[in-house]
Amino acid sequence: MTRDQSREAQLSAAFEERFHAPPAGIARAPGRVNLIGEHTDFNEGWVFPAAIERSVYLAASPLPDPVLELAALDLNEEITLPMPDPSKPAEEQARAYPAWARYGAGVAWVLARSGRAVQGLRGVFSSTVPIGSGLSSSAALEVAFATAFKALGGWEASRMELAQACQQAEHAFAGVKCGLMDQFASLHGKEGFALLFDCRTLEFETIPIPAQAALVIADTRVRHKLEDGGYNERREQCEQAVKILARTHPQVRALRDVTTAMLRIESASLPDLVRMRAEHVVGECERTLLMADALRRGDLPSAGELMYAGHASLRDLYQVSVPELDTMVAAAKSIPGCYGARLTGAGFGGCTIQLVEREKAEAFAEALATKYFDATGIPPEVLLSRPAEGAEWINGPGKKE
Ligand code: ADP
Ligand code: MG
Repeated sequence: MTRDQSREAQLSAAFEERFHAPPAGIARAPGRVNLIGEHTDFNEGWVFPAAIERSVYLAASPLPDPVLELAALDLNEEITLPMPDPSKPAEEQARAYPAWARYGAGVAWVLARSGRAVQGLRGVFSSTVPIGSGLSSSAALEVAFATAFKALGGWEASRMELAQACQQAEHAFAGVKCGLMDQFASLHGKEGFALLFDCRTLEFETIPIPAQAALVIADTRVRHKLEDGGYNERREQCEQAVKILARTHPQVRALRDVTTAMLRIESASLPDLVRMRAEHVVGECERTLLMADALRRGDLPSAGELMYAGHASLRDLYQVSVPELDTMVAAAKSIPGCYGARLTGAGFGGCTIQLVEREKAEAFAEALATKYFDATGIPPEVLLSRPAEGAEWINGPGKKE
């Protein structure tokens, strides 16, 4: 079940208690997990996320004045501040808001700059997306605000336009140069389906996750600092590979255009690390398309094998795994009911994603937590989900926009 109606009722009550009137509606926006396709986005490749059954809930009403009146229930914090001014640059304005309020304010700023009517808003929100675990609590927050501003403003916009506005808000107001996947997935999620997303063309296809499978997400609770170098250095190595390969293959604009065969022939012309990074990205693009194929056929064992192969590639070629992630994946593999497992997200800590037999998922999750704890002394956080529905505006009891 994507919606959590008891949480919606709680949130409405909290809004009403604070503002002495019920909210105009509730925006719900889910977090996401990437099933495969890691570090492929900036190489113009494919990613394969699904929205998860954890969401931000934002109860909201319009205000006549250009004011943001917000309460973050999970943090026990609130603000009343002017709306950002779309005619002024982002950076200085962003600093006027506490960090948690920049996501909503940033979305208002981007939408207003693109000519949308964005009114003042009073809102109360809370979330079941774990914060800072790589399940994109930040994108969920942005998408909840975009959904509310759109509903209250009464204008039309495609889900992709909203996703892009949210991405720009994260760039401009939170200072994080993220790709489009997280906001895309939060807006386009479909119950029971994962989303094969082409980062070059922005086209996507919904692919069913067979009913006999569940997603198990395990947070290692480890965060190694992704020193600037880690991420940026690898991006530069990918760009270097493109430059070298384009000399002999002018059609190559990004690693997405490179095939395994081409890479094999050209491997002597690439410095070792550059070749390894390119091999990961090229292989990962292929695996992502193959996994979508496997799931279309309902072939869960093959889909799972591709996940294990993806993990090995991130560990050995792209080199962004850490011992705790490897421990979690090895533990998952040893427990009955696991089709596949891999690290998900940028790496250096965070979560693994497991594709698991649905009937065994609860026992699996318990066994995984125990094994990981025994090996590391760290209690992991493990959550179960089926692919969930994307963001929605709930306009009063039972009605959906
Ligand atoms: P991730 O997106 O992986 O969860 P980020 O660091 O990108 O991690 O975003 C986390 C930030 O988003 C938090 O530090 C906070 O500012 C904001 N945020 C997310 N969820 C909430 C929430 N429930 N209440 C308030 N702020 C939140
Ligand atoms: Mg984030």
